[in-house]
Amino acid sequence: MAIVKQVSGRYFSRIETASREEIDEVKLERLRWTVKHAYENNSFYHRALKKAGVTPSDIRSLEDVSKLPFTLKKDLRERYPYGMISVSLEEVVELHASSGTTGKPTVVAYTRGDLENWGELMARTMSMAGVGSGDVLYVALGYHWFTGGLGFHYGGLKLGATVVPAGTGYTRRNITMIRDLGATSVAAVPNYMIRMAEVAGEMGVDLKRDMKVRTALLGAEMWTEEMRRRIESLWGLEAFDVYGMSELYGPGAAGECHVHDGLHVWEDHFLVEIVDPETGEPLGPEEKGVLVVTPLTHEAMPLLRYWTNDITFIYDSRECDCGRTMQRIARITGRADDMLIVNGVNVFPSSIETVLLRVKGVSPNYRVTVYREGGLDKMRIEVEAEENVPPDMYRVLERKLREGLRDVLLMNPRVEVLPPGTLDRVEGGKAKRIIDLRK
Ligand SMILES: [Zn+2]
Repeated sequence: MAIVKQVSGRYFSRIETASREEIDEVKLERLRWTVKHAYENNSFYHRALKKAGVTPSDIRSLEDVSKLPFTLKKDLRERYPYGMISVSLEEVVELHASSGTTGKPTVVAYTRGDLENWGELMARTMSMAGVGSGDVLYVALGYHWFTGGLGFHYGGLKLGATVVPAGTGYTRRNITMIRDLGATSVAAVPNYMIRMAEVAGEMGVDLKRDMKVRTALLGAEMWTEEMRRRIESLWGLEAFDVYGMSELYGPGAAGECHVHDGLHVWEDHFLVEIVDPETGEPLGPEEKGVLVVTPLTHEAMPLLRYWTNDITFIYDSRECDCGRTMQRIARITGRADDMLIVNGVNVFPSSIETVLLRVKGVSPNYRVTVYREGGLDKMRIEVEAEENVPPDMYRVLERKLREGLRDVLLMNPRVEVLPPGTLDRVEGGKAKRIIDLRK
């Protein structure tokens, strides 16, 4: 376990520590603006609100948000490409699109004001992680359709950091540049930090001796506390979780402070609710459900009650040792649509990762395959051993893993421990760790 010095970041904006009354006042004013804007300038919302029997003047308190209809990802897909945009195209200065792995892509649009807001949110998020004007920020995230790269880029510029728009791929070059430029902070998806560490080892680069990286800003895919510990110990840095998605500008809707106990939501820009995944009924603090978000400042593309499909809960207490008063959500350990149903049992891939990475000698490179055989669901889990584990120990590891997994999965999966370097690697994007052959 690496000894990581905790980085305590400064406040970027006064509102981060404002009183509850002030934050709620700003939220209500902006919620009313958003509903009115969507109703008056977008035909989809005009019809949806009429159908729900709601007019903008019905929104008198923050609780009234529950009167509004939900917006689903499919609503965005069906209105591809410009149907959700609520300003004239002349006012739109940037467009992004999701990868569209499950159908048509979804397009997200930004006005100049939206980009300004996004930069502010990312600056706050990174400042909270201790990044500032003295930092060299290495952005190893996609810069094309994906919002990751530019989100960190805009935030870094606003902070006055030295931003390196590296993108993904070219792993050996990334290692060389992180070292030579003396990068102090890296933004990436978690699995890429593992991949870079592996390649650095092949190149004979010592991450702790040869690198100056103090912090990593990670997100865009599911990752567990166990994965955080692995990354921190490999690199000798402190890793911060950053939450967002393209429909919410991109990364930067919420992030971790140095306390690492939940993520602060930037409430003056996002109204968050937790609802029951089945009924859509609002749930209380500390109750787990689907995160539903109403962005409060998005001009080009206002969304009402966007159903994120992410499972989390809102903290009951607003007090955090960092002094920020913005509410916190728990780390997202799974999307509702990532959940596997195996012989009638709900399994989140994060619970499998947790079991795997708790076993010493097991690497974070793994693959889970679900298939059907003889009318039953079966699961095969392939995982690579660490470099220093002798092959005659693999059987011992398999037995340990099987025992741990049986308790979580309530079934006996096939477990194969493989030599390092066996499974496919992803050079920068999200890892594809789950293969469901039943679909
Ligand atoms: Zn905090």
